[in-house]
Amino acid sequence: MGQPATFMQETVPLGQYDLIVIGSGAGGLSAAVSAAHAGLSVAVFEKADVLGGTSAWSGGWLWIPRNPLAEQAGIKEDRAAPRLYLKNRTGQPELDARVERFLETGPEMVRFFEKETAVEWLDGNFVPDFVDVDGSLGGGRSVTAAPYDLRELGPWADALRPPLEAATLFKLNITASELGRYFFNWARSPSAALYVARRLMPHFWHMLRYRRAMQLCAGNALIARLIRSAVDLGVHLFPGRPATGLLREGDRVCGARIDGLDAIDATKGVVLACGGFPHDPELLRRLGGCPDGGEHHSAAPRTNTGDGLRLGEQVGARIRDDLANACAWSPVSLVPDKNGGVIHFPHLVERAKPGTIAVTGKGERFCNEAENYHSFMGRLFAVTPPGQRAECWILADHKAQRRWGLGCSRPFPFPTGPYLKSGYLKKAGSLAELARVCGLDPETLEKTVADFNRHAEQGKDPAFGRGESRYNRFMAGRNKLPNTSLAPLRKPPFYAVHVVPGSLGTFAGLATDEYARVLDRHDRPIPGLFAVGNDASSIFGGHYPSGGITLGPAMTFGYLVGRVAAGLIGTEEEPADIERRKNA
Ligand SMILES: Cc1cc2nc3c(=O)[nH]c(=O)nc-3n(C[C@H](O)[C@H](O)[C@H](O)COP(=O)(O)OP(=O)(O)OC[C@H]3O[C@@H](n4cnc5c(N)ncnc54)[C@H](O)[C@@H]3O)c2cc1C
Repeated sequence: MGQPATFMQETVPLGQYDLIVIGSGAGGLSAAVSAAHAGLSVAVFEKADVLGGTSAWSGGWLWIPRNPLAEQAGIKEDRAAPRLYLKNRTGQPELDARVERFLETGPEMVRFFEKETAVEWLDGNFVPDFVDVDGSLGGGRSVTAAPYDLRELGPWADALRPPLEAATLFKLNITASELGRYFFNWARSPSAALYVARRLMPHFWHMLRYRRAMQLCAGNALIARLIRSAVDLGVHLFPGRPATGLLREGDRVCGARIDGLDAIDATKGVVLACGGFPHDPELLRRLGGCPDGGEHHSAAPRTNTGDGLRLGEQVGARIRDDLANACAWSPVSLVPDKNGGVIHFPHLVERAKPGTIAVTGKGERFCNEAENYHSFMGRLFAVTPPGQRAECWILADHKAQRRWGLGCSRPFPFPTGPYLKSGYLKKAGSLAELARVCGLDPETLEKTVADFNRHAEQGKDPAFGRGESRYNRFMAGRNKLPNTSLAPLRKPPFYAVHVVPGSLGTFAGLATDEYARVLDRHDRPIPGLFAVGNDASSIFGGHYPSGGITLGPAMTFGYLVGRVAAGLIGTEEEPADIERRKNA
C-alpha cells in the first residue's frame, strides 16, 4: 500500500485492442473489467482529466433484486415480485425485454465482482423501494460498494474524480446512512459523537499528510474499486482522452478516433458509456430537456454532453425519445462557489426531515416532500401553469435548519453566515417577512404553514400523506415524534432555499437490445457497437421505480457486454425473442 503519487501512471496506448470503452463511469468500467477478466485486451478512454463520471459523485447504490447479500440475510424472492413492482411503477403491462435480462443477470453480476475483482459490496437490506405497492419490498434490493482506502490505488489515486465537494464534510465523503445515523445525531448521542470523531480524526490527519480524503465510500469507493480491478486485469486507462469518432469497416464498428492519438482499432467492438446528455443543450431541446420549457441544471459532471448518442447516430443508431421522462429529475439549488461559478446541489435528503416544507411561488404546498427526488419534481412540473418556470422554495424553521441543514447550508455547529451573505440562504424573523424576502404572498404562506403545523402536531398530513410510506419514514430517520417525517415549523428565524429543475442524469438514449447492442433504425444490432449506462435508453421506459435504478442496470449490462464481446454469451436470437423485443 503506497502513498498516492503526485500524478497518475502514464500508459502508452497500443494501436489495437479487443475492446474499446468510451467513458469511465460505472457502466464503462464494469464492461472493461468484465471483458478483461474474460481475456480481452481493453482500453478505456475518458474525456475528463479524472475517471469516474457521475458514478464517482453518486450515492453508489445499485438496485439489484434477488442480490446475493439479501439472500444471505434470508430475504428470498423470485423474479415475479420485482417484475410486479416494476409493472405497477411503470404502468407498463409488458416490461422491456431488457428488464428480464437485468433481473436474471443482476445477481450474477454482483457475485462476479465480489468473487473475481477488488469490488466488495455492502448490503442495502434496510433500503425500501420508493413506493408501497404490490411487489414492493421494505429492503433487500440494494447493494453498494464497501468503503475503500484511496492509497490502495497507488499511482492511480490522482486519476479518481474526487467526490462532489458540496456533499462532503471538510472534503470527507460520507454515506447517507452514516449521515442519518451518526452525523445528524452527534450532539444527542455519545455513541454517535464517538463515531463522528472516529471518522473525522483520521480524515484530518489524511488532509494534513496527503491534502486529500483517503477514506472513500459510496460512488467514490465504487469507482476506486473498479479502477483497482481494471488495473489489476491489465486494462489501459486514458483520462483526458475524449473519443471523437467511430471507425467502420463496412457495417461493423471496428475502432474509435481518440483526441490526440491515432485511430485505435477494436477487433471485438466499441462500448459507448459517455453518461448521456445532461449538459448538452441541443440534445436536451430535442429529447425533452425540461417539461417547463426552461433550462435544467444537472448535478452530473459537465463533460457529459451527449457524445455517446452523437457517435452512435453517426453510424446509424436510433435514439429512443418515446420515454415517460427524458431525464432523472431532481430538485437542485444553485450555490455560488468561490471561483464565481455555480454548483448544482441536489436536494436528496433534508426535504424529508421534520420541520421542513416545500412551497410553490404562490406559497402553497404541492407535494409530499419526503417522496423521492424524481416524483417531487414530477409533481412540481404538474402544478406549474404552462409558460411558467417550475420553481419552488424549501423552508425550515430554526430548529430544523440547525438539526438537518437546508440544502448546502450545514446544521449546527456550522455557521449560516456565508450562505446568507451569498444570498443562497434566505432568513427572516417571521413567515410573513420570509415570504416578502422570497417574493411569495405573505398571507398565503402563513396560511399554508398554519394548516401544515396544525396537522403535523398530530402526526398527520391529510393533504399529501407525508410519512406514511416506508420510504418516507426511511428518509426521515427515527425521530421521537408522532410521525417521524412531520414537525411544525414554529421556531423563528425561518429559512428558505430557492429550488429549480435539475437532474441526476438522463433517461433517453440509444436503442439497445438485451445484450446491450446498439440498434439501428430498423431495430437491427449495429455490429461491434454496444452502449451501457445512460448512453443506453432507460430500461424502465423513463420511469424511476427505485433508488439505484441507473447504476444497477449500468453495471449489469456492462458486465454482460464484457461476456458477449468475449464470446462467453451467444447472441443468436430466436424469432420469438425478436418479437418480444419489438413489442416491448
Ligand atoms: C449526487 C448524485 C447521486 C446519485 N446517486 C445515485 C445512486 O445512488 N444510485 C444510482 O443508481 N444512481 C445515482 N445517481 C445517478 C448515477 O450516478 C448516474 O446515472 C450514473 O453514474 C451514470 O453512469 P454512466 O456510467 O452512464 O456515466 P458516468 O458515470 O457519468 O460516466 C460517463 C463518463 O463518460 C465521459 N465521457 C463523456 N463524453 C466522452 C467522450 N467523448 N469520450 C470519452 N469519455 C467521455 C464523461 O466525462 C464521464 O466521465 C446519482 C447522481 C448524482 C448526481
